[in-house]
Amino acid sequence: MKETQVDQDGRVRCPVCGGADFSDKRTGKAKLGAAGLGVLTLGVGGALAAAAAPKRLKCRGCGENLKRGGGPYKPRKGMPGYVEPAKPSGADKLAASRAKLEASRAGRDRAKAEREARRASRGAHEVDEKLARQRLMAEREAARKNQTGS
Ligand SMILES: [Zn+2]
Repeated sequence: MKETQVDQDGRVRCPVCGGADFSDKRTGKAKLGAAGLGVLTLGVGGALAAAAAPKRLKCRGCGENLKRGGGPYKPRKGMPGYVEPAKPSGADKLAASRAKLEASRAGRDRAKAEREARRASRGAHEVDEKLARQRLMAEREAARKNQTGS
């Protein structure tokens, strides 16, 4: 048997249709007992047992028999109090895909910048080597001149 649920306002709700109107079966029986000789024949113990028995409720909205629960009310679509779950809207999706695109573009730019930096440093290195070679040759030339000069 399904159990009643309690919504945010503390109202007892039917978990099937969300209705908040119930007929109380136990009360019905108690009335019947009070009207007839039931209470007398059952005695005090019987009356107490009836009072302690789990409260049975019948939803007036959908006729579902329910027992007193108290869990949080979780309305489904079409039930009172139902709130459409926040779905990413089209604009959000667009923004997300745009952000993704920006990120990939940034990554590409970064890779390109790194490539260029590497190329630049390699170029600078080559220039250094050339200069060093020229300097070395100039030094050798000077040394040779010095040797021939002396
Ligand atoms: Zn119901």
